Amino acid sequence: MKLYKPEVEAQKFWNPYTQTMPRPELDRLHLRKLQTVIEYAYARSPMYRKLLDRHKVKPEQIRTMDDFVKRLPFIDKKEILDAQAVSPPFGDALAIPEDFFQQRFATSGSTGAPLHIPLTYHSAELWGESWVYVYWAAGLRARHTFYFPYNWGIFAAFWSAYMGVRRLGATVVSGGGLDSKARLRQIEQYRPDVMLATPTYALYLGETAREVGMDLAKTSISHVIVAGEPGGSIPATRHAIEELWGARCYELYGIAELGPTNPGCPLREGVHLCEDWYHALVVDESGDPVPYGEVGEHIVTSYIQDGQPLIKYRTHDLVRWTDRPCGCGTTWLYYPGGVLGRTDHMIIVKGVNVYPSAVEALLHRIAGLSEHYEVHVDRDATNDFVTVKAEARPEIDAARYAGLRQDAEGVFKSVIGVSIAVSVQAPGSLPRYELKAKRFFDHRPAAHRWQLAGRGDA
Ligand SMILES: [Zn+2]
Repeated sequence: MKLYKPEVEAQKFWNPYTQTMPRPELDRLHLRKLQTVIEYAYARSPMYRKLLDRHKVKPEQIRTMDDFVKRLPFIDKKEILDAQAVSPPFGDALAIPEDFFQQRFATSGSTGAPLHIPLTYHSAELWGESWVYVYWAAGLRARHTFYFPYNWGIFAAFWSAYMGVRRLGATVVSGGGLDSKARLRQIEQYRPDVMLATPTYALYLGETAREVGMDLAKTSISHVIVAGEPGGSIPATRHAIEELWGARCYELYGIAELGPTNPGCPLREGVHLCEDWYHALVVDESGDPVPYGEVGEHIVTSYIQDGQPLIKYRTHDLVRWTDRPCGCGTTWLYYPGGVLGRTDHMIIVKGVNVYPSAVEALLHRIAGLSEHYEVHVDRDATNDFVTVKAEARPEIDAARYAGLRQDAEGVFKSVIGVSIAVSVQAPGSLPRYELKAKRFFDHRPAAHRWQLAGRGDA
């Protein structure tokens, strides 16, 4: 199917106008959009009106980016949950009558009450379009066929990925309600070009394929787009997926309640911020933006959530931002390495920050280890200490485990600069996950949690 004129089809960017806009112009545009959403939220959402009143700030006082950074408070998931609890499901967080909703989602609530996520037609369309930036960057167009190997549940991400394919004009094949073997048969039958999955599931299908004697590298899949957990921007994990599928692997990083905020860079070493729909800050624990090149908490404002606005929303994700121009040619913010971990997964060994993503990246350098691993963190009186359990590859003889352990510990020591204990496990001994892997286990008695200071309390 052809939806675009040839000259549009050949375009490198989905929206060349804003994706290559010089930074000063982009920032001017952001300020106007930020002022608009703040005014909108203050006028319509009881939660925002109370929040701003409590911090003694009025929308018209946000005149500069500095005002936005310094005067406006952060907002966290707990405050949205409290506002929703006033009159469930949406309560005081809502900015629009429920009649306007087109879709309703919720987080799983596995770690507490579920967070309800209302989307108007406007939000649902634009969440979908946020995916198109990564589809387009990957060279995907209306003629391609996408395969969705998952059940269509309450998770907003799957649905927005689908809306994105609709927006692109491409074809969708759903693998909902099927087991992994039946999905592999569907891939053989329908010959899709693209598969969307979590990195864990993309690799898990490799084990299923081995069971049925199928070579995934010989299937029609030429592109794998991963989301839902870090991995796509960790070179070793990406290479493992690319090798398994004989395909190129791209990433999108999103947050359930905010949507698909960060389409992957076409160079596949990190993600960009979708600056058409979102504004972001990366801050330290005092709430100040960290200098470019450094790591902090990702704070996002959405321009496209008219049902339940989110302004300076804490994601609890750690990212590194940079102002270096990206080789792909966009001027949009770039986070090399994608998401580096969660703020409450911050590990500090003898003063050195250790990110779970760095551990994963290094483990893949050890030739005899498989992609199945766990990171365990504990703490003595003064320090965090880390033990990594990693499975050996099936072809490795148990007599070589001691050597493998030494190799791995040596790599950690030389690259990260601190001692990390490695315990080599027999193949198949660690639990398997289909959708998202649980790899981080925090045994610290009173974990020294990341504490982000409020703003605008003065
Ligand atoms: Zn780029």
